[in-house]
Amino acid sequence: MKKLVILGSTGSIGTNTLDIVSKFPAKFHVIGMTAGTNVDKLEEQVRTFGPALVAMSDEAAAQQLRVRCKGLPTKVLGGAEGLVQTATMPKADLVISAIVGGAGLLPTLAAIKAGKSIALANKEPMVMAGRLMQEEARKANVRIFPVDSEHSALFQSMEGHRMADIRRLILTASGGPLWDLTTEQMKDVTPEEALQHPNWKMGPKITIDSATLMNKGLEIVEARWLFDIPASQIEVLIHRESIIHSLVEYSDRSVIAQLGLPDMRTPIAYAMNYPERVPLDLPSLNLAEIGRLSFCAPDDARFPCLRFGYEALTTGGTMPAVLNAANEIAVQAFLDRRIGFLGIAATIRRTMDAHIPREILTLEDALQADVWARGHASGIVEVLSPPSAVVH
Ligand code: NAD
Ligand code: MG
Repeated sequence: MKKLVILGSTGSIGTNTLDIVSKFPAKFHVIGMTAGTNVDKLEEQVRTFGPALVAMSDEAAAQQLRVRCKGLPTKVLGGAEGLVQTATMPKADLVISAIVGGAGLLPTLAAIKAGKSIALANKEPMVMAGRLMQEEARKANVRIFPVDSEHSALFQSMEGHRMADIRRLILTASGGPLWDLTTEQMKDVTPEEALQHPNWKMGPKITIDSATLMNKGLEIVEARWLFDIPASQIEVLIHRESIIHSLVEYSDRSVIAQLGLPDMRTPIAYAMNYPERVPLDLPSLNLAEIGRLSFCAPDDARFPCLRFGYEALTTGGTMPAVLNAANEIAVQAFLDRRIGFLGIAATIRRTMDAHIPREILTLEDALQADVWARGHASGIVEVLSPPSAVVH
């Protein structure tokens, strides 16, 4: 029986994880969960799964939950310290890191330092401070299992192979909901349109990241740190159907890929139960029915955010943290209708241009860059409205 803590249990990854737990009660037991502000959902999860400890980052929400859970054996904590306490529960065997954004950095890092194995969905902390996270994982002798579908595919395609034989990692990208639009047409895209992902049902932030292709920009940084492979050996391939989840090319030009219908429960379950597979009751991939798979190169002119990811990774130091923070501010501003769709890339570009990168030697360095970039990007958002700015 594996004892789990789920950071971000009320989100898309969190609820998919709990779906697996509910089907395999003899394999998994949830002892801790955290959420941001969704009291209704967390209360429902507490009643269903009976964890010993839960935490909400929002203190007022935690207080509300405490009242509602009176009489239940679950302890309710609030604030950043509550999240860290839940992430480091002494009995936890595996921590599912599924908070969205940089907010997941502190609890995930705390879990690593406490020696917990990690199933990592929350890619933003890897982008902000990947080298630090991996150093801490090495020190604590902790394994970080990828949940992100592309990284899970890469991980599965590396099993049984020598890292030294890897020539290229090829991350696939669906292209998102706006792949067929011209830059001119993107000017007027609404949050509702950008939230219509063709293949995946995910939280709002990552869905917008898929529409700008920033998600792939973040994922190349994530891949760099997860697998210790330099940016020059990481490529992106547009594959609209999201059937091939990523590929690894070896020195003899053999290419190994992992395929499956797009359902996050497959990579989540693999990370939860590695190296054994969980018999999930999902539809089988039927390639004869699908008939054709398509591929093409990314388009940097229409989707500059992917290039920003490479640029941040090559510059190194604090630049990826700045890229991530500027993106978080810009995506929220777009969702709030304060800037247009093209304003997202414009905000990131201008924030990166204004940043003088430094080395990240300590967590404090990463956090400082994050705070600086959020402030700078917020200033840019102010001047960008009304929502029609074009990136240059
Ligand atoms: P989501 O928005 O559906 O859920 C986010 C979770 O984090 C919720 O439980 C929310 O309460 C919590 N949260 C939000 N802000 C918080 C804060 N400030 N402090 C503490 N908790 C907070 O997001 P999601 O789609 O489940 O994505 C989670 C992470 O997994 C992201 O980093 C995303 O990039 C990554 N990911 C998601 C998918 C997917 O299919 N959804 C696929 C690959 C990777
Ligand atoms: Mg992904």
